Amino acid sequence: MSVNTDSGREGKAEAEGRAVCPVCFRHCVLNEGQTGACHARKNEGGSIKPLNYGMLTSLALDPVEKKPLRRFFPGKKILSVGSYGCNLQCPFCQNHEIAAVSEAPEFTEFVSPERLFELARAYKSQGNIGLAFTYNEPTICYEFVRDAAGLCHEGGMKNVLVTNGCASQEILRELLPYVDAMNIDLKSFRPEIYRDFLHGNLDTVLDFITLSARHAHVELTTLIIPGVNDTEEEMREISAWIHELEAAAGKSIPLHISRFFPRFHLTDRNATDPGLIYRLRDVAKEKLSYVYTGNC
Ligand code: SF4
Ligand code: SF4
Repeated sequence: MSVNTDSGREGKAEAEGRAVCPVCFRHCVLNEGQTGACHARKNEGGSIKPLNYGMLTSLALDPVEKKPLRRFFPGKKILSVGSYGCNLQCPFCQNHEIAAVSEAPEFTEFVSPERLFELARAYKSQGNIGLAFTYNEPTICYEFVRDAAGLCHEGGMKNVLVTNGCASQEILRELLPYVDAMNIDLKSFRPEIYRDFLHGNLDTVLDFITLSARHAHVELTTLIIPGVNDTEEEMREISAWIHELEAAAGKSIPLHISRFFPRFHLTDRNATDPGLIYRLRDVAKEKLSYVYTGNC
């Protein structure tokens, strides 16, 4: 695969014996033997390789609605798999046991793409439509997603990506031919929340959503956290942006508005008031046709 990165930065790093990871907005510059911020990619012999290829920590036959996807094969199931590592550092991560780790958890098991596809096919009789790459951030090992999803497509089944949307456009383009549907987090519409609270990048996420919506069925999720992103004003901005994207992409983009519960490092505030979630749903519905509430 050839991937373009910031060529000046890449050239300088290579000249200094380092390598630049092309996968996400961080573009980690790694010395030989060094691991990136996601703890799942490493400079080995001058090229960046995934450490978590096929290293699964979670495997479950879930309802499609649980991803959440409400307008993609409703009533069906999907074999959902997760690995470990993440390129964001959300202080409220409910999957932190597998996402915020510096090495593979001890319950990790290797499953090849071929074996995973066999499992997906075996579960067809129980309503399985394919594979969902979820739980931790799947794009940090896009190679495994591409290989397993490719087999799934060849076998006539579907692929779903549940992602924070922080991968680069180059990596997204690698994956799009294999992805039928996505749930993408739009965690806030404030650049400073992405930068300071999540250690992410809002523009990367907006670009990711925009390109994805042109090629796949896309639903978005916003987790409403008290004191962070819980104003009607911000929800108006989010829903107006989605509405414009719907017009450009020529399709509906459902929005899931979810309730926060104290988790991981973010235990200094209460769960989101369900009444607020319903109010923000009504605000979003001023612009959008499909708005769903979650965890209420
Ligand atoms: S995928 Fe990991 S190693 Fe690569 S740029 Fe992102 S955080 Fe860094
Ligand atoms: S993006 Fe998801 S998996 Fe990653 S840290 Fe945030 S909540 Fe956890």
